[in-house]
Amino acid sequence: MVQARRQPQRTCLGCRQVKDKAQLMRFVCSPDGEILADLKGRLPGRGAYLCNNRDCIEAAVSKKQFDRTFRQVCQPVTGAQLVEGIAQILLAHLASLLGMARKSAKFVAGSNAVLDALNRKGLLAVIVLARDISPQIGEKVRRKAEYQKIVTTKLFNKAELGRILGRAERSVVGLPDGKLADAFLDDLLRYQDISGES
Ligand SMILES: [Zn+2]
Repeated sequence: MVQARRQPQRTCLGCRQVKDKAQLMRFVCSPDGEILADLKGRLPGRGAYLCNNRDCIEAAVSKKQFDRTFRQVCQPVTGAQLVEGIAQILLAHLASLLGMARKSAKFVAGSNAVLDALNRKGLLAVIVLARDISPQIGEKVRRKAEYQKIVTTKLFNKAELGRILGRAERSVVGLPDGKLADAFLDDLLRYQDISGES
């Protein structure tokens, strides 16, 4: 009989709940005392673990839990600064995943093309609407996507989306079902948890 392998467990510095390590964010302290979010879990040194949310980060900072865990006085930082830094890292991940979609030509861009793609069931897995998309078009895409249970999110503006995709302004981008979309959705959920956006 194969035994289920137990996931390594860690305690969140904020709420003190014990969770699977994979569910928590890792932080390390750099040699000069800077607290760094180690989202890929690859930085050396002792790690501190936190739930992927503002409250736990704020609690850890206000109770000086980082200093205790790292056994040194870390550079002062506010919870808001840590949250902002993590949100920026995740946004950069999301942009680079869209850039990968561009390189492999695995994306649908532009409102008409995305609306067309939405007529074919099961083609798209996630849709990014530019923050400055016209409300009517955004709503039209969102409704149609919702009907197919496809995730829609507002990220970047039209100019940024265009630049990431190597094109002129784009108001909508769809990613087809697949590994890239899965990776995008993973980071998107983390971004939404930490930024409080939806
Ligand atoms: Zn927590």
